[in-house]
Amino acid sequence: MNRKKFIKTSILSTTALAVLPHLSFSSNQQQFTVDQLIGKGNPDIVGDSYTSKMHKEAKKAFLKMKEAASKEAIQIEIVSAYRSFERQKQIFEGKYNRFTQQGLSPIQAIEKIIEYSTIPGTSRHHWGTDIDIIDSNAPRPESVLLAKHFHGTGPFCKLKDWLTEHANSYGFYEVYTNNANRKGFKYEPWHFSYAPVSKPMLQEYKKLDVQAILKEEKIKGSEHFSEAFIEKYRSENILDINPKLLS
Ligand SMILES: [Zn+2]
Repeated sequence: MNRKKFIKTSILSTTALAVLPHLSFSSNQQQFTVDQLIGKGNPDIVGDSYTSKMHKEAKKAFLKMKEAASKEAIQIEIVSAYRSFERQKQIFEGKYNRFTQQGLSPIQAIEKIIEYSTIPGTSRHHWGTDIDIIDSNAPRPESVLLAKHFHGTGPFCKLKDWLTEHANSYGFYEVYTNNANRKGFKYEPWHFSYAPVSKPMLQEYKKLDVQAILKEEKIKGSEHFSEAFIEKYRSENILDINPKLLS
């Protein structure tokens, strides 16, 4: 870790702890630091790449699930697993630059980004519990993470059927379900979460002052994160998910 980043991280953590002083002194068995919750460092993450870094408990469960699926000729491949704050910031700002250069206003660009991508510091991928998965035994489309590939005659239908039947028994749940009444992120049939760890993490995450944390970061477009915007984002994008992951 270079010095600049270390100082920046320390400032953020200090601020976040000032907002939520009880977090560091929690006697609760499930204890997570602010840094763990926002993708700034987590000792429980194992693995060495974008597609293998996961929370150690989630990884154990995933490997069992993968093994079971392989017996039915489904080769579960992780497209994306743990993602750091910095990586999410690159993704967010890359899209922000692209969309605003295409002529969208900053607010329009942000609204478009958050159809599928998160604001850095708010991604469930920061927790190491959430994965985007496909079947590498199926013919591979150019863009793999599209809902149509999981329906009709799409290549990942077999995976989807198998997950519908078995994922829950390994602790994995779809997060952004195909429910017309659900707001926030669009339907993502590829995104699964390891509930035994992500449920308590979400409960802790809910206590954070997201706006105060985001203010500390120099994210492009963040001057448009009004209190009303963050409140809507929190209730729709963070909390309007599969109810099985909420409590
Ligand atoms: Zn995802």
